[in-house]
Amino acid sequence: MDEKRWIDLRSDTVTVPSREMLLTVLEAQLGDDGRRITPETGGDGTVNELEALAARITGKEAAILFPSGTMANTAALLTWAKAGDTVLVDRLMHLYLREKTGFVPALGGLLPVFYDLAANGSPDMESVKNALTAASVRLACIETTHNFSGGSCQPPDELAQFKELCGRAGIPVHMDGARLFNAVCSLEVEAEEICRYADSVMFCLSKGLGAPVGSLLCGSRDFCRRAREMRKALGGAMRKAGVIAAPGIYALKHNVPGLKEDNEKARYVAERLRKLEKAFPIRGSVPSNILILETAGEETCRALMEALKVRGILCNKVPGHGLRFVWHNGVNWEDTRLAAELIVQAAGRIKACGGGEANGI
Ligand SMILES: *Cc1c(COP(=O)(O)O)cnc(C)c1O
Repeated sequence: MDEKRWIDLRSDTVTVPSREMLLTVLEAQLGDDGRRITPETGGDGTVNELEALAARITGKEAAILFPSGTMANTAALLTWAKAGDTVLVDRLMHLYLREKTGFVPALGGLLPVFYDLAANGSPDMESVKNALTAASVRLACIETTHNFSGGSCQPPDELAQFKELCGRAGIPVHMDGARLFNAVCSLEVEAEEICRYADSVMFCLSKGLGAPVGSLLCGSRDFCRRAREMRKALGGAMRKAGVIAAPGIYALKHNVPGLKEDNEKARYVAERLRKLEKAFPIRGSVPSNILILETAGEETCRALMEALKVRGILCNKVPGHGLRFVWHNGVNWEDTRLAAELIVQAAGRIKACGGGEANGI
C-alpha cells in the first residue's frame, strides 16, 4: 500500500471512470450490436442511444461506436479513400505520425501529401492551396485539438477556410477530434459549430471524458453505412457493447464541463513556466489541456524528464524534443500548483548544469 503517489501528466488517457459512471453499466440494456435491425439500429439499445446522442451533439446524421480512436480514424480514412489514393495531412498529425495504419503500405496503402501548420497550429492556407493544386488529393484531414502542436484549437472561421478550399477541390474533410470537447470548452462554441466544417468526425470517450473505452465516428448516413462495414472488416464490431456505451453516455452528459477546468490548469502552469522561456520555450499558446515544453535536444529532454520523475511528476516525450504535460480530472488544483513549482525547479537544475546532465538532478 506504500505506493508512490505520482502527479501523472503523461496523458488524459490515464483517467479512471467514477463509481457513478460504472454503475450505469449495471442498468444498461444490452444486446448484440452486431445484429442489425436497420442500418442505424443494432440489437444493443444502449449502443443505439449513444450513437444517436453522438450524432446529435456533432450535428451529423449518424454515428458509430468504435473500440478505439485509432480504429475509428483508420475506418474513416479507408471509407473515404483506398490504397494508392493521396490524402492531405500535416506532418505532426496523430493519424499520420503515430497511428500510421492508413499509410503503411502493407495496411492502408494511402499516400500522404502535406500542408504546413501556421504558428497557432491551424493549417497554413497557402500551403493547403499549393498541396491541393500540386497533387490529385482524395481526402483532407484536420486534427482538433491538435495534440503535438500543443493542444491548439482552430477557430471556426479557420476551419471554414480549410473546408472551403477542400470543397473547391471536391474532396471531403475528416476531423480527428480525439479531444473535440476540450476545443469546445476552449472556444466556447457548440461541438456542432466545429464539426460542421468536416464531413466525418472522430472523438474519444476514453481521454478527458473519463470513460473506460471507446470512440465515436460521426458523419452522414451514407458514410456511416460504409464505415460500419469497414469497422466489421477491421474486427471492431462488438457484441454486448452497451457495457462500453453506458459509461460513454454518462461521460457526454456529465463530464464535458470538467474539461474547462483541465484547460484552465494547463493555462495556469503555462503562465508559471513563462519564466523558463529562454531554455524551455512553450509550444503554442496552450489553449486547451496540453502543455508542451520545447527542449534543446534529445539529451536535455531526457534529463528534464528524469529530473521530473525524481520529483514525482510523470510526463511524455513528443516529436520535436518536446515534453508534454496533459491535464485531466485525476490532477487537482493542489497537484497542479505543486507541479508548476517542481517543473520550474527541475528545469532550473537542468539549465544550471548546462543541460543534458542526467546526474545533475
Ligand atoms: C489518442 C488520440 C487518438 C487515438 O485514440 P486511441 O483511442 O488511443 O486509439 C487519435 N488522435 C489523437 C489526436 C489522439 O490524441
